[in-house]
Amino acid sequence: MLRGSELLADEGTQNVTLQAVEGVAVALVFVMGLIFGSFLNVVIARVPMGESVVHPRSRCPRCGHQLAWYENIPVLSWIALRARCSSCGLPISWRYPLIELLTGLLFLACQRRFGWSPELVSGLVLVLLLVPLSFIDLEHWILPHELTWPGIAAGVVLSATQGLDRLRDSVIGAVAGFLIFWAMEWIGEKIFKKEALGAGDKDLLALLGAFLSWKALLGIIFLSSLQGAVVGSLMLLIHGRAGPAPEPEASEPPPATPPSPQVAPEGEPGAAPEAVGAEHAQAEKGEGEEEDDWVPGPTNIPFGPWLSLAALEIMLLGPWLSEVLPVPLDLLLSGVR
Ligand SMILES: [Zn+2]
Repeated sequence: MLRGSELLADEGTQNVTLQAVEGVAVALVFVMGLIFGSFLNVVIARVPMGESVVHPRSRCPRCGHQLAWYENIPVLSWIALRARCSSCGLPISWRYPLIELLTGLLFLACQRRFGWSPELVSGLVLVLLLVPLSFIDLEHWILPHELTWPGIAAGVVLSATQGLDRLRDSVIGAVAGFLIFWAMEWIGEKIFKKEALGAGDKDLLALLGAFLSWKALLGIIFLSSLQGAVVGSLMLLIHGRAGPAPEPEASEPPPATPPSPQVAPEGEPGAAPEAVGAEHAQAEKGEGEEEDDWVPGPTNIPFGPWLSLAALEIMLLGPWLSEVLPVPLDLLLSGVR
């Protein structure tokens, strides 16, 4: 009897210890997300400019003040500095802590969704690709292949850690994602005589197919189009344009201020109204040069963020969504596990 209750007590302590270890591990995932988010801020600022993401160290874009380690702590430094550069007082955009917090929360959500499994690693890597791709697309209207191409490869390789079936579905997903958008582009050019989708969108859908398998693709296209069209239409009604305003014409290479609230130049020349929900064309991205002649019109939206949002929704909430959605729509998500 005595020995039995002792054993029970032991098991109890063991469980408490295990829970504590698990709690610490989950907290670490969140902190890792914050730290990676800080790095993603650098990626978002430098990759579109063709600059190195490791060198030089982070500095104030106005006065060049190099950030000390204590000025570079995710979220906390921004609060401690009261959102201003300690040297010149330039406001530091709220986008920096936002991206850090967003990455931390998405890391946490992936852990809750997948537990400690190979799928968790795959999910975290996908977050690390989609966050910068979305914010770069919002600001520059490009999806740099420096991120998408290695991302497609990473998606296939990480799927291989989840078994041969998953690897097969991943390869099919990458090819199908590319072909679906290629077909949509071809139809757009041949029938509607205009470029509706960018080269980067094809690569992004291939990336999503590689990570989430071909079974997720229909759901992603459905959710991204629906949400993009609804929000785009609302933005068009309220702000007079569906997507963010294009960058001002003569864009000097180093942005004088961190992402400024972009002022929409109304009545952009050559920006003919197009169908609501039409996506942006992607200029071929040469050596660090910006898109040449294409200017996003008031009804264009960058499609990358919408594809990314839909993919994250399906990855993190897929099983729940397929139960909640009404009958014909849940079929789009039936392949999501
Ligand atoms: Zn400064």
